[in-house]
Order: sequence, then C-alpha cells, then structure tokens
Amino acid sequence: MNILEKFFGNVSFKSDAEIDLMQDSARIVSDTLAMLADEIKPGIKTITLDRLAESFIRDHKATPAFIGLYGYPNTLCTSVNDEIVHGIPGNRELRDGDIISIDCGAIMHQFYSDQAYTFGIGEISEDKKRLITVTYECLILGIEQMKSYYKVGDISFAIEQHALRNGYQIVEELVGHGIGRKIHEFPQIPNYGQKGSGTILVTGFVLAIEPMLTHGSSKILKLDDGWTIVTRDGSPAAHFEHNVAIRNGKPTVLSDFSKIELVLSRRGYFKAQDFVSIENSINY
Ligand code: MG
Ligand code: MG
Repeated sequence: MNILEKFFGNVSFKSDAEIDLMQDSARIVSDTLAMLADEIKPGIKTITLDRLAESFIRDHKATPAFIGLYGYPNTLCTSVNDEIVHGIPGNRELRDGDIISIDCGAIMHQFYSDQAYTFGIGEISEDKKRLITVTYECLILGIEQMKSYYKVGDISFAIEQHALRNGYQIVEELVGHGIGRKIHEFPQIPNYGQKGSGTILVTGFVLAIEPMLTHGSSKILKLDDGWTIVTRDGSPAAHFEHNVAIRNGKPTVLSDFSKIELVLSRRGYFKAQDFVSIENSINY
C-alpha cells in the first residue's frame, strides 16, 4: 500500500504503466462496440450481437467481463428503448426507430474495461436523438471535472445540472464507479450530487463515468428476469460510459468512440456527436 492508498482508503491508484495496460483493455471494448456499430440494423437479434461480441473479444485474446459477473449470463447488456441497463440479449429483434444501449466489458492484462454506447436503429425520432445527444453531453461535462483536486461531487453535479437543464431525469439508483483489477472499485460516481462534495480526485484515479438519462420519470423497475432495469413509465432511456484516467492532473479518456462514430457515419446512422452543442475540451 502506498501513501496515497493509505490516505484515500479504498481507492486503488494506478501507475502510468498500469494505465497503459488499462488502455489496451479499453481498446478491445471500443473495438467491439465499433464492430457492433456495423451490425446493428432492423431485424437483428440482440443475442446475435452478443455472440459476435463474445467471439470478437476472445479472438483478441481478452475475456468477456460480464459473463458470470454476479451471475450475469452474457457478454453484453443490450437495453432497448425503455430498458435503461442490464437488458439480457435474447431473441428480441431490433426494429427501425429503436434505440439500444450496448454495454460491454472485457478483461485484458488482468484489468477491466466497461463501456456503453447508445445507438439508434435506422431512423429514430427527434425526441430520441435529443435524449441520446444530451446524455452524451452529460458524459463529456462529467469527464471535464475529472481533474486533480476536484471532487466526485463535481462530476455528479455537472452531469445532473445538464440533464435537468434540458428537461431530463437522472436515474439515481445506478452509478459510475472506479475500475481496475476489479470492475467495480471505490468510489461510486453518482450522476447527481453537490458540487465540492465527496472523495477528492488526484492523478492515478481511473473511473467509469456513465450517465443514464430518462425522457420521463426517473422511477425504475426491475423485470422478472432479475436483471433488466426499465423506466416505470415506459419512457425511453439513454446511457453512455467511458473509462477515464486522471494523468498529470487531467482526464485521459482510455476508451475510444471515434471508431464507432466512423462506422456510423459511413452507414449514415445517427450519432450523438453530430448534434453536440456544448464546448468539448476533451481530446479523444
Ligand atoms: Mg457498463
Ligand atoms: Mg460500469
């Protein structure tokens, strides 16, 4: 245990070399999501996406992180429309106008990565485009707060304020988290909270930041499958998740959504990045 760990209790600090290893792990998941970006279309089953992802990760000498995690059965969480997170892949066929959050994790060099991207299938409504865009903007604004001597509450506050400003609700029961040799490490990163509160951030933190926004009520329900979390009022939800390290006092995004965006652009599919209306100071 180094002196930082002594001071910060449960936080597991990563060295530069470890962050490089985590970037390898993150790359596999981003590449998996980019591969899936080319496969999503009306008529495809979510289990097909899951099988493609599992093969892709194993072919790249990594291990799917979610299979067996707390007893979860699959490689992906595929959450469609009113499903917020933890949708289990199955025979459901995606339809034109659906939105789907695909959450994927892998283990490489003994380090976890855990990312999510919300896709639109075919033509989606303006309402859904806006929900996805604002959720993505919340992710960027949260990441911008990941600087040395800022606090966890600064991330939470930035995400919550942007969501509320735009008329969306935050799902309070589900949170971001530290990530490393374990998928869920200390601290938790709620998507709501008070500026200047909570754990102080310094170089060596690696966090999974993951805003989840709903168009209607933020009340949730868990389905009988024991996993799928849906909005109680049936309104759609969106979810993005990046893995971010603090290096030299500033955020470094380890995941890479640019590959996903390239595929979506080539296919003429919607992507949140086209509609972002905030200043983006994050380089990735
Ligand atoms: Mg995730
Ligand atoms: Mg996560």
